[in-house]
Amino acid sequence: METSNRAIPTATAAADGPRPFAIAINGDFIIQLTPPATPPLSERTVNSGQPWRGARVVQFRVSRAVMQEHSTLFRDIFRAQPNLTMINFESKCSGFGYALEIWLRAIHNGVNSLPENLKATHMERAWVAIGVGESFGFAPQHLDKIKPWFLDGYNYALNHGPGLSPMMARCLAFPCSVFDYAEGFMKLTKYLAYNTNGNIFTYNPSNFQALASDARVLDGPLTTARAHIQSVIDRELFFPLEKLHRATCVCRKETAFDYEATLRSLGCWPVDQAVKQYTLADIIDYLSNFNFTPKTQACDSGACYHDFKKSVDIAIQRAKEYFDGLCLDCTERSLQDEGQSREDYIQKNSPYKDCWDMNCRFGHGRPSWYFSWMGPSDIRRDICSKFREEKRQEALEGKGRQGRRGKRAGKGSTAPRNQGAAPFDPKVPPCGLPQSSSQFPNNNTLKENPDEGDDHQDSEIDDDDDDEFFDAEDTSFESQNVAADDEDAEGLDHYSIN
Ligand SMILES: [Zn+2]
Ligand SMILES: [Zn+2]
Repeated sequence: METSNRAIPTATAAADGPRPFAIAINGDFIIQLTPPATPPLSERTVNSGQPWRGARVVQFRVSRAVMQEHSTLFRDIFRAQPNLTMINFESKCSGFGYALEIWLRAIHNGVNSLPENLKATHMERAWVAIGVGESFGFAPQHLDKIKPWFLDGYNYALNHGPGLSPMMARCLAFPCSVFDYAEGFMKLTKYLAYNTNGNIFTYNPSNFQALASDARVLDGPLTTARAHIQSVIDRELFFPLEKLHRATCVCRKETAFDYEATLRSLGCWPVDQAVKQYTLADIIDYLSNFNFTPKTQACDSGACYHDFKKSVDIAIQRAKEYFDGLCLDCTERSLQDEGQSREDYIQKNSPYKDCWDMNCRFGHGRPSWYFSWMGPSDIRRDICSKFREEKRQEALEGKGRQGRRGKRAGKGSTAPRNQGAAPFDPKVPPCGLPQSSSQFPNNNTLKENPDEGDDHQDSEIDDDDDDEFFDAEDTSFESQNVAADDEDAEGLDHYSIN
């Protein structure tokens, strides 16, 4: 950074001189941006032989007072050098000047003053805007000043060209969290869990390398969420095998073998092998082609007449509806405020009448709450244990739902849930809030509302199955084994089949 106490230059400049931008018409300070000593590699490659388009010096005429108010960096600079009239920065990367101009215009004249050419038509620009905002001390305090600009760019990316894709989700999920865009973040993290494999969930298209490590905070929750969805598929598909192993008929072995062979032919079995090759969305899609009839005509145990198709349909539905994406509100709430009592902290993070999305901007089930948790894991475990204990108590007393297959309104139910005011914020709508517009990409014939129809009991998604599962995850994570001993819940899931 170079500074100067010279008089402010006029806004007219020679063709090859600094290019002036009057952000504040009567501004009393100049920010000069000079090209990097070495142009970015990509620019040199793309424009080989041509002058680099970012090679020109630009000068932004700004208001010292506005800079002082919105930038921690400039506050420090003005404190150290009260008579300064101009400062020089080196443009760090492609898009740096655009991003600085966006910030300067937004803090001086509002985000609606941005000209058309500053729209975020490239996903890279969101990252550069975050990087520049942090470098100049505008962010995180004033991110809301350019949030509408980011939302425009987000909508542009989703509505132009091929639309939502793994690369787009990788590029935009982290900026959604930075800009506190809960709906987009939920939608994209859900998409990433189902539609990508491998361990890389974010892609930083900018030269602000430090942001890539910040973005890695998504890797843990999404990896675990994906492992849980995988386990859901695995245990549901395994259920018929379990039943055949307990049977005594002579045909049981051939039926079990043929059932597994059918799953293998679809590329879905064993599940832990399938996920190395395919995304969860692929596997769920392939399972919809499952078709199997046991060869035996005279099974004396009845186990071979199991409705295999229904088991697979349950696996599909449970997997599809399992994870709604990560919730920024749950994450925020899970971080204990300074001075907040432990009781208050636990209460604010506990479910209210089976709702795990109280005070959240978008509705979701317990898995989203669970994977969005950034607080101490022992507190999360305590909340889960307490919830489970209350459910058991209710079941023992015969109130609430009627066993696991009772009339509790499940996720997606049209029945109103939690009509009463929340204990801590009556303004916030009860759960059953609109879900994020994220929809599973492979819509097939399954009903939107699992509580409707004759077979609702079989297809109901019951979060409570996951109680033991979540607890087991907590304890087994250390041993690298996310599969849980959940045999009891598994049996109950298929309670009414056959
Ligand atoms: Zn049999
Ligand atoms: Zn939430």
